[in-house]
Amino acid sequence: MTRIRLTGLTKVFDGGVTALDRLDLTVEPGEFFALLGPSGCGKTTLLRTMAGLEQATSGTIRFAERDVTRVAPGDRDVAMVFQDYALFPHMTVVDNISYPLKVKGRAKPERTARAEEVGRQLGLEALTARRPSALSGGQQQRVALARAVACRPALFLFDEPLSNLDARLRLEARGFLKRLQRELGVTTVFVTHDQAEALALADRIAVMESGRVRQLGTPREVFARPADTFVANFIGSTPMNLVPAEVEGDRLRVAGGVFAAPQGVVAGSAKVTAGIRPEYLRLHDAEPTDAPDAPTGTVSILENLGATTLVTVDCGGESLSAVVPEDAEPAPGSRVWLTPQPGRLLVYDNDSGELLP
Ligand code: ATP
Repeated sequence: MTRIRLTGLTKVFDGGVTALDRLDLTVEPGEFFALLGPSGCGKTTLLRTMAGLEQATSGTIRFAERDVTRVAPGDRDVAMVFQDYALFPHMTVVDNISYPLKVKGRAKPERTARAEEVGRQLGLEALTARRPSALSGGQQQRVALARAVACRPALFLFDEPLSNLDARLRLEARGFLKRLQRELGVTTVFVTHDQAEALALADRIAVMESGRVRQLGTPREVFARPADTFVANFIGSTPMNLVPAEVEGDRLRVAGGVFAAPQGVVAGSAKVTAGIRPEYLRLHDAEPTDAPDAPTGTVSILENLGATTLVTVDCGGESLSAVVPEDAEPAPGSRVWLTPQPGRLLVYDNDSGELLP
């Protein structure tokens, strides 16, 4: 199992675009690590630079303790799986899987045996004689994974490995990919712009913007305590409530009401932004006795999320959203009060956008 250590990694393309900006990052041995961020933030460039398909402008890349910054792609002991799978159309499944072993000069019997073994591991045994054009998207994706696995590399680098699959297959493939990575224990970095995929799969996530890491943490950490409003906006399938607020002593004035301020948020007149996930906001149909000044308002929109409902409440000139179980859905137009679940209210500095304290 290999540790990846990136130090001061910078990539400036001809024409002056800085895709990676003095990036420091360590991926621990055996970790399933996601690079997440909006289009253009540098995820693919980072993956390609690790693979050696792009040359770093400055900084270093170490795999284990080996400096591979200037090492050719073929000598880095990594296997990359591309978004479009990049299978050879004229080759059968078994030849596709064993191709990298051929490049490494392994004898044909060994290549075929390994390809068949890995094909079995990935549920491809009935398909080994087919060509890629006779496979479904999900099967092609498995062949691409099998080809990566067959090389027994020290690292896997996956570029949006699930993005060409339809929604159902994608879910299936997620579970499959996670099991496979666990079984093999190979350090894996995967790129995705899909926050739900990163949350579901990764041990840790680096949320990137403009060639830098905005937050590094476990899925739970980046979901529950986004380090800044950029991450807060990016993570979560229903967007976080981010509303103007004012600190008054140990209270936070929000949406015409008052919440207890989180511990450590310093009293003062500073205007800040309150952040609370809809999942962590409770609705009450009467004024809560333990939170007499809680924001109150009128239910304006109900959105069905399946077993839950997203409720939008207009209060104090702001809109706040809460996720409630379907059987606790309030009537449209009814009056409700809102309180945060304990420890879930966050406060962001308006100038820096960063989480306080
Ligand atoms: P996406 O999710 O859209 O693939 P990304 O986060 O992977 O985006 P990159 O593809 O790494 O982003 O691109 C980062 C920045 O570098 C972008 O501004 C992009 O236009 C630029 N860029 C990428 N490749 C090149 C290139 N070969 N030449 C010049 N600029 C490039």
